[in-house]
Amino acid sequence: MTNTVLETENLTKAYGNKEVLHPTSFSVVKGEILAVIGPSGAGKSTLLRLLDGLESPTAGTIRIFGEPFVRASRKKIRSRMGILFQKTVLFDRSVVDNIALGLSYRRIPRAEQKRRAQETLAKLGMSEYATRSARTLSGGEGQRVSFARILVTRPELLFLDEPTANLDPLAAKDVEEMILQENAENGTTIIINTHDQIQAQRLADRVAVILDGSIVQIGTPDEIWYHPATASVARFVGFQNIFIGSANDGSVSFGGIVLPAPADRKGLVSVMIRAEDIILTKNTSGIPGIIRSLSRRGAFVEMYVDCGQEFFLRIPFKEHDSSLSVGDSVSLSWDEQAVVIGGNE
Ligand code: ADP
Repeated sequence: MTNTVLETENLTKAYGNKEVLHPTSFSVVKGEILAVIGPSGAGKSTLLRLLDGLESPTAGTIRIFGEPFVRASRKKIRSRMGILFQKTVLFDRSVVDNIALGLSYRRIPRAEQKRRAQETLAKLGMSEYATRSARTLSGGEGQRVSFARILVTRPELLFLDEPTANLDPLAAKDVEEMILQENAENGTTIIINTHDQIQAQRLADRVAVILDGSIVQIGTPDEIWYHPATASVARFVGFQNIFIGSANDGSVSFGGIVLPAPADRKGLVSVMIRAEDIILTKNTSGIPGIIRSLSRRGAFVEMYVDCGQEFFLRIPFKEHDSSLSVGDSVSLSWDEQAVVIGGNE
């Protein structure tokens, strides 16, 4: 038996003649948390709206709980899932009534609705809020109540569209705790859109990077942040040193520098190194270069070093050799694993 909960094949969305989601195929397994990251306008919300059935695809298919997600199955499948948005939705009633409203579309007696709402509040450690008017809640509390209104329906599949984007960091942490608790206790499968990369790292089993309407990489957080598949993913996840190189026979050359590369890589590639992975010394054992600029940024010192190619370095201030200055000859090196060879696009 497969434990795939959701699967798309060539899922595509166009508005007018503008394709905002290019054919997209991926799947999510039971109990998984998948974070979808990408810059604003990349297509994250569009993807989630399609998966939740709020919009219809232009082409391609979605299967959820093993069934095609189409008009005939929509209602039944949607009753097993929930979606939380960035914008908190509260009604001018008590907190417990707001949560019970999550069940009002189901044929459940009022008393039972209320009992389940109380139970959900208790599980979330929020019982003290039950009788408060929703109007008196802070932004973070309100979003937790909105979330509880979805959880009371016991969704098996949960979509979260930037659920903490409007919250301060402490309130965001509370919502993140709810996400992890729901996933751990009920095995709920979760797809979360976020522009907050730290949040994606904290929550996700796997991360999908969406750029310009395409999922360009999907993998574990380590794969995404340390082994980006392409230069554009690397740029998005914060690699500052990205060079175009030429790979052949187990090595790659760029701007006069030659490094080892996987033997199966041939032709144009991207050579990517994080600024904080570059080691600078005054000895001559590494790649020789000259410091072109040096500036303090908070707890770090940032430098540009010209080695034929210009490298950007970020060194913790405490480890910085304060005798260094612009124009000095230095030498750069790094652990072999710090260099990522990826696609050229
Ligand atoms: P994200 O969630 O990553 O910020 P969106 O999915 O909201 O991105 O948007 C992706 C692209 O689709 C954007 O260029 C946006 O302007 C466009 N778009 C979204 N909704 C509509 C719509 N209803 N009509 C036309 N274009 C839209």
